[in-house]
Amino acid sequence: MSGRILVVDDIATNRLILRAKLSAAYFDVLLAESGEKALEVARAELPDMILLDVMMPGIDGYAVCRALKADPLTAHIPVVMVTAANQQEERIRGLDAGADDFLNKPINDITLFARVRNLMRVKMMFDELKLREATSQELGLGDFLDPAAFDTDQEGSVLLAIGDQARGQHWKACIASRFPFTVGIVRREQEVLEAAEREPPDAFIITQYLEGGDDGLRLVSTLRANPRTRQSAILLVVEDGKLETASKALDLGASDYICAPFDANEMAARLRSQMRRKKYSDRLRSNVRDSLRMAVIDPLTGLYNRRYAMQHINRIVERARESGLPYAVMMMDLDRFKSVNDRFGHSAGDLVLKEFARRLQENLRGVDLVARLGGEEFLVVMPDTPPREAQIVAERLRRTIDGRAFAVGDGREIAVTVSVGVALGTPQDGDPAALIAHADRALYESKAAGRNRVSYHAAAA
Ligand code: GH3
Ligand code: MG
Ligand code: MG
Repeated sequence: MSGRILVVDDIATNRLILRAKLSAAYFDVLLAESGEKALEVARAELPDMILLDVMMPGIDGYAVCRALKADPLTAHIPVVMVTAANQQEERIRGLDAGADDFLNKPINDITLFARVRNLMRVKMMFDELKLREATSQELGLGDFLDPAAFDTDQEGSVLLAIGDQARGQHWKACIASRFPFTVGIVRREQEVLEAAEREPPDAFIITQYLEGGDDGLRLVSTLRANPRTRQSAILLVVEDGKLETASKALDLGASDYICAPFDANEMAARLRSQMRRKKYSDRLRSNVRDSLRMAVIDPLTGLYNRRYAMQHINRIVERARESGLPYAVMMMDLDRFKSVNDRFGHSAGDLVLKEFARRLQENLRGVDLVARLGGEEFLVVMPDTPPREAQIVAERLRRTIDGRAFAVGDGREIAVTVSVGVALGTPQDGDPAALIAHADRALYESKAAGRNRVSYHAAAA
């Protein structure tokens, strides 16, 4: 996961240490040495996240945060306040100013990266939603995204798994006083699994030690592996005071962690951030609403249709121009597909198209555009994808098709292959139609050279 992070601190050493750590993890880092400068850089560069020191001469961190959150241009950028160790008042002031998360000084690596990844995921989902919304508006389908969906404190459900019943009641009251969430409390692993089976909550808060010696860490990995709960947020409460426990929890799939003892504001901030992410991702998955669906989805394969694809590719090109990142456009066409219909019948052909679409989606990311342009012709557009990666993906897709026969009912199987043409887009490329034409030409080369292969548009290779 890459992204751009603005680090704001008046002390040069602090800035440089953070820059070194974040750069080593492949983040792009921008620096600002004052509140004034931070606002200037944030507005000009629109970073993906801001790490903001609280104590600064001139405009302090709170004022900067308030100004950022008041400006529609920067309001959606997550802000992590860097505060002196466990200063409760500082945190409350930070929350009031609109901070999304906190870090204590001195900054520990595990904590830093847990927070950064966490908020970066929220930000990326937010960006993707905005991208989709823009496309649906261009299609004249209105906003399928209700602005209320962006309210952080909407309804949701939380399940507390905690050994200590009294503490559980206290946390429940803390959450209930801040959010309109329904909160359940259970004490043992088995009860968590049963509750999740009935109705998976949006978020789990799990203590490290559960009743009867049950292990919270093991529960994290069980929940992450279960399809019913895979999408839920999981917050682990570290009770042994060891950061290795936190690090292990994150490895096992926890979305975030919090070290006990903690104050209620801290839990609230973390829960809010997790809930936001869960709600965004639910919306992404639940996909577009019915009206939008019918207008833009191909009924046979469930992929986007040509109409949607042609609009959405404009967005991707535009975004690449802003981000400065390359992207890839792929045209794909099934080989000798007419003969599939001729030999096995039209409905067998339909099954092949469906399975083909399924395999494509399975091998691409959520941000990639996958569309059926018509017949047995498909378009894939991959944002933020350098040439080498595009090559790997194209080849993988090709192998995904010829590597395994397609079942077409009655135990019959058909070997299917696909030809692929790839064009690589740079941030300077402004014309989606030209890129598609390039990919199409490369596709033609694949066909001419014998099919079941990937070709690249010459200028790009
Ligand atoms: P090539 O390798 O050159 O691409 O050969 P091809 O046979 O795949 O190409 P051609 O364009 O000649 O044939 C495409 C066939 O795809 C013809 C058409 O009957 C079939 N087709 C198009 N849409 C559908 C569909 O929705 N369902 C089925 N079953 N077949 C379809
Ligand atoms: Mg074909
Ligand atoms: Mg064709």
